[in-house]
Amino acid sequence: MTIDKIERELYIGGRWTPAQSGARVDVIDPSTGTVIGTVADGDAADIDRAVSAARTAFDDGPWPRMSGRERARVLNRVAELLRKNAQELAELESLDVGKPIGLCLPVDVMTTVEQYEYYAALAQTLDGSTRETPLKTFAYTRREPLGVVGAITPFNFPLILSNSKLAPALAAGNTIVHKPADDTPLTALRMAELLAEAGVPDGVVNVVTGSGAVAGDALLRHPGVDKIAFTGSTAVGRLAASAAAASLVPVTMELGGNAANIVFEDADVDKAVGAAIKGFVFNTGQFCMAGPRLLVARPLYDVFVGILADAVPTVPIGDPRDSKTVIGPMASDRHVRKVEEFVALAKADGGRVVCGGERLDLDGGFYYKPTVIADLPNESSVVQEEIFGPVLTVQPFDDEAEAIALANSTAYGLAAGIQTSNLARAHRVAARLEAGIVFVNDWAMLDPAVPFGGVKASGYGREYGPEALDAYTRTKSVIVSLD
Ligand code: NAD
Repeated sequence: MTIDKIERELYIGGRWTPAQSGARVDVIDPSTGTVIGTVADGDAADIDRAVSAARTAFDDGPWPRMSGRERARVLNRVAELLRKNAQELAELESLDVGKPIGLCLPVDVMTTVEQYEYYAALAQTLDGSTRETPLKTFAYTRREPLGVVGAITPFNFPLILSNSKLAPALAAGNTIVHKPADDTPLTALRMAELLAEAGVPDGVVNVVTGSGAVAGDALLRHPGVDKIAFTGSTAVGRLAASAAAASLVPVTMELGGNAANIVFEDADVDKAVGAAIKGFVFNTGQFCMAGPRLLVARPLYDVFVGILADAVPTVPIGDPRDSKTVIGPMASDRHVRKVEEFVALAKADGGRVVCGGERLDLDGGFYYKPTVIADLPNESSVVQEEIFGPVLTVQPFDDEAEAIALANSTAYGLAAGIQTSNLARAHRVAARLEAGIVFVNDWAMLDPAVPFGGVKASGYGREYGPEALDAYTRTKSVIVSLD
């Protein structure tokens, strides 16, 4: 794809419009650190315009009043358009986030296609039910959309995480104001065009780019928003939860993670090594469901660390446009600096850097070598906090009880993993792990049909599956007197 300088505006009420202030913000290619364009820097006034467009589309427009089957036809057309434009979308996502192109097409774009196909099917199942009562009444329930959804999304999987909100919210008949991540707004803006082309009416999906502190904050606090769907860090999630509490609107919180991946002595070692590496290099470690804490049964510990020391440096790192690249740059220099701070802290806390531990100097991009750190104490903040980069800590454990205790010892509870050939142990341990999703004998096998979300500081509410439709509908009871 040849990219001319990118210049994008806000998408409000079916029209492209500059920010009311005229402000703009740079878009940077993480693989070179160069500015490749600008987008409008929206603020509270733009959020207000977008909420008002979404309100009008909800109150007076056709979308909430269409049958589920009619909405499903439009969502299926979105999926078709995504397939048709798959290569372009993959290249745009790769350019904006620095993701390897070999990941963008099969993972980011195709998962997004599947989200629309899945919720197109579920849009046709939004039925109420009749209820028996001893009164002389005919009672039934209706499932209705919530209204205007304020969706705020993070930088790491822009297409997937935006559309994991848009697809179910649209299927249920809501209208949306989407504030994508500051650093990675491009595919959200392209999606606005594809949604319109598929037949989503004007005002139903509005996209306001801009900073979290200004545009995001204004969206959270806007009195015209009926539901907040937030994915991002736990720190900002707390702000979103308190804004939702103040306005008493429902909220879905998909927050940070710090998953443990437990390798038992009876694991298939080759498969476990594969799962461990995938767990921390996938998406350059910028993955809420990454497995950055590897817990290895003590008899296997030294061997396992040795295998990682040899294998990890061979994982291809470099230009995200090269189809052989597995690890691309991080999305911004700010994120690399955060990783550097954690690695310095790991050394101070007695950690042994087994491989990596430094930047990769390449083309001016934001690269950090995949890094394995052994022997850290569990209380080190490098183990306890979310690093969100290509860094793996490895700790030994002596028995199943200790593995479970270590796995559950952080504030987070998004994902966890178990590598074992003992089926009973897999189920027994899965039930004890404080996590919203548990991977057994691999990592990150996600699908729109399977709900995901966290516990503890990783948030609440579920995306994917029929559960996500519940999060975008409410039940109304209608009771008709038969007298
Ligand atoms: P972030 O919290 O910094 O930003 C997320 C979004 O919130 C962005 O759109 C940002 O502009 C906005 N924002 C920032 N400050 C805000 C404020 N004061 N008010 C309103 N909005 C504000 O997160 P990030 O760095 O973009 O993403 C990484 C984080 O997201 C990690 O913690 C990761 O684990 C988490 N994440 C969670 C999931 C999940 O499904 N649980 C998925 C992906 C990422």
